[in-house]
Amino acid sequence: MTDSRSRPEEARLAAAFEALEALKAPFAAESANRAVKIRSCKDCGDCCVHPMNAMLATQLEAEALLDRLERDPELAPRRQELLAAVHEAIERFELLDDEDEPRPYTCPFYDASDGGRCLVHGRGQPLGCTVYRPVGATRCDMPASAFEASVERLREIEDEAFGELGPILTIPVAVARALRARDLGESDGERRPAGDDGDD
Ligand code: SF4
Ligand code: SF4
Repeated sequence: MTDSRSRPEEARLAAAFEALEALKAPFAAESANRAVKIRSCKDCGDCCVHPMNAMLATQLEAEALLDRLERDPELAPRRQELLAAVHEAIERFELLDDEDEPRPYTCPFYDASDGGRCLVHGRGQPLGCTVYRPVGATRCDMPASAFEASVERLREIEDEAFGELGPILTIPVAVARALRARDLGESDGERRPAGDDGDD
């Protein structure tokens, strides 16, 4: 795996998370509206599993997802289990081969039980997952021009936080790289999140 960039200081990262959530908010509202009026994601999940899912994420989005795992009282106790699923997905779907190319995989944050749901729906969910939505009774898609503009803004936020732009990777690879960046920060004396035993 290519070396990860170092992790920004906490305050800078927290500001970037807020900017990311603000960017996603109108898309999340529109998706919720469509879930009522057109088609609900409940009992579907097609776009989160192989062979349909090939969603990508930046390192900033991966950091935001990890932040959700640490702060969400439902997910925090499952953190190690979910990170193990991240590594399993990387191996099973060979996500490190041409790692910045879209490649189908089942997302480790998709919980297939009880009708299926995204465990990180809302805060920490990658932008593309928030933007992808029903466009008809049997079809879902991205609003192409709005998504392109939002990715431009996402990259601006990332550049402000990290001081440079990294690759856009499958969600499991992006999360694994964000974890690696944390390990590098740890070895430089950076704070490890509470309850992290460091054996990811
Ligand atoms: S966005 Fe579409 S494909 Fe994805 S879970 Fe919702 S209804 Fe299913
Ligand atoms: S993060 Fe959530 S919405 Fe996105 S692919 Fe994974 S399970 Fe699906």
